[in-house]
Amino acid sequence: RTPADQQEPDPTKKTLVVLGTGWGSVSLLKNLDTENYNVVVISPRNYFLFTPLLPSCTTGTIEHRSIMEPIRNFLRHKKAAVKFYEADCTKIDHEKKVVYINDDSEIKGLSSTTEVPYDMLVVGVGAENATFGIPGVREHGCFLKEVNDAQKIRKRIMDCCETATFKDQSQEEKNRLLHMVVVGGGPTGVEFAGELQDFFENDLKKWIPEIANNFRVTLIEALPNVLPMFSKNLIEYTEQTFKEETIEIRTKTMVKNVTDTYIEAEYTDASGKKVLEKIPYGLLVWATGNTVRPVVKDLMSQIPAQKDSRRGLAVNEYLAVKGAEEIWAVGDCAIANYAPTAQVAAQEGAFLARHFNQLAKTEQIESQLSILSEDQGKAPNQEARDLVFAEMKDLQRRLKRVKQMGPFEYSHQGSLAYIGSEKAVADISWLTGNLATGGQLTYFFWRSAYLSMCFSTRNRVLVFVDWMKTKIFGRDVSRE
Ligand code: FAD
Ligand code: NAD
Repeated sequence: RTPADQQEPDPTKKTLVVLGTGWGSVSLLKNLDTENYNVVVISPRNYFLFTPLLPSCTTGTIEHRSIMEPIRNFLRHKKAAVKFYEADCTKIDHEKKVVYINDDSEIKGLSSTTEVPYDMLVVGVGAENATFGIPGVREHGCFLKEVNDAQKIRKRIMDCCETATFKDQSQEEKNRLLHMVVVGGGPTGVEFAGELQDFFENDLKKWIPEIANNFRVTLIEALPNVLPMFSKNLIEYTEQTFKEETIEIRTKTMVKNVTDTYIEAEYTDASGKKVLEKIPYGLLVWATGNTVRPVVKDLMSQIPAQKDSRRGLAVNEYLAVKGAEEIWAVGDCAIANYAPTAQVAAQEGAFLARHFNQLAKTEQIESQLSILSEDQGKAPNQEARDLVFAEMKDLQRRLKRVKQMGPFEYSHQGSLAYIGSEKAVADISWLTGNLATGGQLTYFFWRSAYLSMCFSTRNRVLVFVDWMKTKIFGRDVSRE
C-alpha cells in the first residue's frame, strides 16, 4: 500500500478508536502494532503532557512546552498510519458502536461535529477536577491539571504581586493579595506549594523587595495530615520542611465556600466547637482530586452493570468495561482498584497494547488453521496430508502460547514528590521491601528519575536546559 492508500481504512481490518492522548492512551499507542488495526485517535489535545513536572511550570522553573510532545510527531513514527482528530468525544453509543465527536477549538470548519464508528474502543479520557459542588470554586479558583491551568496560575501570581505594590494600596489589601492559598494536601497541592515558596525565596523577594514581609503560602487540608499515600515518617518530614519554609499547613480544615476575595473554611476549635473562618486570598489553587468526566458518566448510565460504580468505569482484569462489548478503559477514568496515577495509567496502556497485539495474532493463526484444515481435506495423498497436519500442529502450539497472556497486574515502583527548597520525598519499592527517604539526595533522585521518564530525548534536553537557565538566571517574573 502506498502512503496515500494508508490514509484510507483497510476494509479487512477492524477499526480501533482510542479516546485521549494522556498517559494511558499514549502508552497503549506506543506499544501497539498499528498494522493490525485501522487506528483512530480522538482527543481535544494534540499533544501528550508529562504531568509530573506541571507544578514546575506554574512558576517558570520549567517552560510548559518542554513537557509537551506533539502527538503527530509521535504517531508518524508508527509502522502503519494512524488517524488523529482534534475533538472532544461528546457521547459513546455502545449499542450502535459509534462515538460522537465535536471540534471545540476556536477555528471550526464546515464539519465540526460528526460520528466515528468503531469495532473496538479504548476510553482513556482521564478525569476532571473535583469541586464537591462547593460554591465559587470554578469561578474564582485555579485548577492544576492542564497546561493552560499552569499558565493561568503563573500570570495570576505575578498579577497579585504587581497589584499589591500598586500606588496607595492599603496594608490589608496588600496582605490579601499576597496570600496564596492552596486547597488539598495531596501531592498536587504539596508540590505546587513547594514550587511557589521556592519562587518567592529565590526570585520574587529579590525582584520585588516590597512584598518580602507580606507574601505567604497556606495549604489547607480536610484530613489530619497531608500526603496520605506516603509513609508516616515522610508525612512528618514534609510537614516539618514546610514549617521551615514558612508554608503554613492547616489540617482538619474543610473549605465550604469560595468568593472572589476570601474562602470560608470550617475547623473544630480546642473546645470542640465548629468554627467557620473567613480567609482572604489573592490566589487560590484548588487541588482536591478527581471526579468522573460527563462523557464517561453518560456511558456508565447506559450500562446496567455500571450502576453501582461511582468513581469511573468498572473494568475486569483485562481492562474490558463491565457490561459493554468491545470497550476497554485505561487510566483515571477506569476503576481497577489502583490509585489514579500516571504510573498505573501507563502500565494499563502497555498491557492493553500487548493484549490487542495478541488478539490480532490469535485471529491470524485461527484463520490460517481454518485454511489448512480445508487444504488437508483436499490433499492428493497421505504424504501431503501429513505435511499439512504437521503445519497445523505447529500453529496450534503457537496459538496456545499466544493465548497464555494473563490478566493485568500492576507493579508499583514507588511514589515521589517534590516538597520545595531542593528537597523531595520518596517511597520506593525495592526487591527486598520499601525504602522511605526524604531530603536533598532524594531531590537529585527525583530530578534524575523524572528526567529519564520524559517522553522523548527532545523533552529531556528541554527540561534539563530549563533547570540550568533557572539556576543561572533565576525565574522570569514578566507577566505574559
Ligand atoms: P490524562 O493523562 O489526564 O489524559 C486524558 C486525555 O483525554 C487527555 O489527552 C485529554 O485531553 C483527553 N480527553 C479529555 N476529555 C476527552 C473527551 N471528551 N474526548 C476525548 N478525549 C478527551 N501521577 C504519577 O504517577 N506521578 C506523578 O508524579 C504525578 N504527578 C502529577 C502532577 C499533576 C499536577 C497532576 C494533575 C497529576 C499528576 N499525576 C501523577 C497523576 C497523573 O497525571 C494521572 O493519573 C494521569 O494523567 C492519568 O492518565 P490518563 O491517561 O487516565 O489521563
Ligand atoms: P488527592 O485526591 O490525592 O488529594 C486531594 C486532597 O484534598 C485530599 O487529601 C482531600 O482530603 C483534600 N480535600 C478535598 N476536599 C477538600 C476541602 N473542601 N477542603 C480541604 N481539603 C480538601 O488529589 P491530587 O493531589 O490532585 O492527586 C490526584 C491523583 O494524582 C492522586 O492519585 C495522586 O497520587 C496523583 N498525583 C501524584 C503525584 C506524585 O506522585 N508526585 C503528583 C500529583 C498527583
